[in-house]
Amino acid sequence: MQALSVKNLTKQYASGSVALKGIDLEVAEGDFFALLGPNGAGKSTTIGIICSLVNKTSGTVSVFGHDIDVDLDGAKSCLSIVPQEMNFNPFEKIADVLINQAGYYGIPRKIAEKRAELYLTKMGLWDKRNSAGLRLSGGMKRRLMIARALVTQPRLLILDEPTAGVDIELRHLLWKFLRELNEQGTTIILTTHYLEEAEHLCKNIAIIDQGDIIENTNMKSFISRLNIQTIILELEKPLELANNLEQFHYHMLDETTMEIKIHQSQSLNDLFIVLSQNGIKVKNLRNKTNRLEELFIDLISENNNGSE
Ligand code: ADP
Ligand code: MG
Repeated sequence: MQALSVKNLTKQYASGSVALKGIDLEVAEGDFFALLGPNGAGKSTTIGIICSLVNKTSGTVSVFGHDIDVDLDGAKSCLSIVPQEMNFNPFEKIADVLINQAGYYGIPRKIAEKRAELYLTKMGLWDKRNSAGLRLSGGMKRRLMIARALVTQPRLLILDEPTAGVDIELRHLLWKFLRELNEQGTTIILTTHYLEEAEHLCKNIAIIDQGDIIENTNMKSFISRLNIQTIILELEKPLELANNLEQFHYHMLDETTMEIKIHQSQSLNDLFIVLSQNGIKVKNLRNKTNRLEELFIDLISENNNGSE
């Protein structure tokens, strides 16, 4: 069973801007799927259409087999969304934000109260249950939006940039939580522009740019395309003699800082052996940039060159 099936989806806003040019997406039940793309690519528009907050221009969307044009209630009953923008009532008590959400889905109040306690506790908000939303910090508001989405216990959870502007500690907490939720069977779709996040969490990815899907693959094969990495080494002392180093593509950034490109077929160990034969110790090693980030930027810029 597909959790989500999107076919030839287009969107032209009334202003004339074409946000989606005919995208296809298939997300299997149980998947943890990343929709990646730069700002303005069409991620939020896609999500808006899936949960019927935005009208599509053409194409079809089904959620667990419920076509949104035929059976919108069926589709909605399987799905929760954590939108990019905060959209809860800031004057409502936060426990009520959850209980009322459950109410819209016809969940009896007794059950709703239990679930509100469960998910507010999981999100570390239970002791704030009687506060109004506007009293919460930014990170707490984000957690409240997630707790609200969970109160209906959706089969498919869609999060639109859940960690944008969130501090590292909370980001890691959310990652752990989302991974557990996925392991327990919830299908998750995440939009993000943090490649690192997708790498940590997701099994499959699609990259969207200027309203087109330019890549749709699994995370492992995406990463395997990164066959060269650039590494910076801090050497203990300046490099004078350099026997056998020519086999490596390196240059010195200064006397003791070496930038080196390592191909997948070469091992770091071989490099260290040669350095130590030259009497050089390495004090420190780091990646020049995030490798995924490099690949992503290459793909997007290729796509931009192609469309000009
Ligand atoms: P993303 O979420 O990937 O950053 P969006 O889906 O928000 O991208 O936007 C895709 C494109 O559609 C952008 O060019 C954006 O300016 C345009 N767009 C988004 N929302 C609207 C709107 N309400 N009216 C007109 N244009 C919009
Ligand atoms: Mg967006």
